Formats: sequence, structure tokens, C-alpha cells
Amino acid sequence: MRKPTLLIHGGAWAMPDADIAAHENGISNALDAGWAVLERGGSAVDAVQAAITVMEDDEAFDAGRGSYLTRDGRVQLDALMMDGKSLNAGGVGCVERIKNPIQLARLVLDESPHVYFVGTGAERFAMQHGMRPCDNMDLVIPREQKRLYDAQAAGLGDTTFTGAPMAGPLDSHDTVGATALDADGNLASGTSTGGTLDKLPGRVGDSSLIGCGCYADNESAATSLTGWGEPIMKLVLGKWAVDRVAAGATPQQAAEAAIAHLHKRLGGHGGIIVMGPDGSLGLAHNTPRMAWGIASEGRREIGITRN
Ligand code: ASP
Repeated sequence: MRKPTLLIHGGAWAMPDADIAAHENGISNALDAGWAVLERGGSAVDAVQAAITVMEDDEAFDAGRGSYLTRDGRVQLDALMMDGKSLNAGGVGCVERIKNPIQLARLVLDESPHVYFVGTGAERFAMQHGMRPCDNMDLVIPREQKRLYDAQAAGLGDTTFTGAPMAGPLDSHDTVGATALDADGNLASGTSTGGTLDKLPGRVGDSSLIGCGCYADNESAATSLTGWGEPIMKLVLGKWAVDRVAAGATPQQAAEAAIAHLHKRLGGHGGIIVMGPDGSLGLAHNTPRMAWGIASEGRREIGITRN
């Protein structure tokens, strides 16, 4: 029997001091929800789902309600969940009427021979399986409308449209993610995001793509990433990191190597969590701060790490 362990994150960026308490509070609530599942003998996938659902419901994070807005002022959400035992995965992209996309990702993982659904097809799948749709405006909050307005007034839209770098270490990356190991020795991971501020409608980032922002395999490791999605995707960085664990690196070595690779190869910025099949942990980021939490028997830690 393995020692159940949960490692979660709530984004990596230049989080201002004023936002720290809200992030710590959100991480704490998510950790409690996920750990409650593992503590009573629940599965890693259930623990990941429980933790991420709490962060999606918390407006402090760029996931679920309160996410960044697309260029046309809507919320479009991406999420992935992966089961390290079976390698089954469920991904959704560009959903606009689903309050908890991680729950839809779980539904895809459990109920569909397909791995990935996008847009209206994903929403139809959700409704066919009993999920209630919400209105997109239920996910939009005034703070984000102002943020979008300010960004567009400052000309961010023009630069992204021309393909110039959209984000650096100072830009907000509040994507949420979790990795878990259950008592049966199974790993799981999940990542959920509203993507990047002022993204063009239809843009999908790394978070919900298998092997990019999320991956889990009992034979290597589980991981979840956050940060500037385009470079992470190009490097298939989640799979890159777990492959290093399979090759003998510790999760901490793999996490540090992944972030170094991201920066050296493409100048990217972000953060990563990695959990090995024995519950050993790794975390690294090259952003000024990263929010995280760890729970296992007799251990409960919450941190906003500084670089
Ligand atoms: N990686 C996410 C994306 O590019 C953003 C984030 O982590 O905040 O969609």
C-alpha cells in the first residue's frame, strides 16, 4: 500500500502581495477537499477532481468563473484529467457554458472512447450526460472585464494579433492543477484554465493537451503545468518531464530540468509540479511566485514560493 499524497498548484506568476491571501485561502480549501478523498481511501482521480473543482469555483484563480476573458469578452475554458493506471484521459477545450470543466473532463475520461471534445460538441456531450449548462455571463466577473478593457486600452490586443510574445514572467498565470497518488499506488493529474488574457476566441493553450500541461502514468510520474502555454506546448513539456523521472531523475530534478529547458530553448516562463509513483515530489518555476499545497498523512503545507 502506498502513502496517499496530494500536490496542487494555483498558478505561477508575479503575484502581487495583495493577492497572496486569496491564493493561500483557495489552495487551502482545495487541499482540504482533495485530501478528504484520499484520506478516506478514495482514488487519485477523485482527489484531483475534488481539489480542482474547488479552485475552479474560486474567483482568485484563472479557471472556471473569474477566468481571463477572450478578446471578445467571453470565458472559454480548457481542462484535462488523466488516470496514470489506465492512461485514460479526458480533455475539453473552448467550453463556454460549463461551470466546472474538470468535471466534464472526468466525464469524458470515464464515459467516452474519445479523449478530447471541444466547443459546442463538448457542451452537448456534457448535457447528454446530465450536466447542466450555465450562461457564459455567469462565468464573467467585473474584475476581468476591467482587466480586459485595460489590457486592450494599453494595446495588448495589437501585439498578440501580430504574433508577438503574449506573456512573460510578470503576466498572470493562475491556471490550477493537481497531482495525486492513492493508496492503491495509482497516480492521476488534472489541469484547468481560462487560458491567457485577451486570447483570440478558439485559442487552446497547453493546459488541456495531453503531455503538454498535464500527464500521468504510473510507470513514470504525474505532472501539471502553468505558464505561458505556447512554448510549453511546443516542447510537450509535461511528457518531457515525466520521461525524465522514468529515466531515473527524481521528480524535483525533472521539474527543475523542465523549467530550465523551457527557458533555454524558447525563453518560456511557467511552473510545474511533478509526483513520482512513490509519492516523491517536485516543484519548480521561473516566475517570481508560484502557489502550491501538499497533503499526506501528518503533512499539510501551503506555500507561495518566491524566486
Ligand atoms: N498555460 C495556460 C495557457 O496558456 C495559462 C496559465 O497557465 O495561466 O492557457
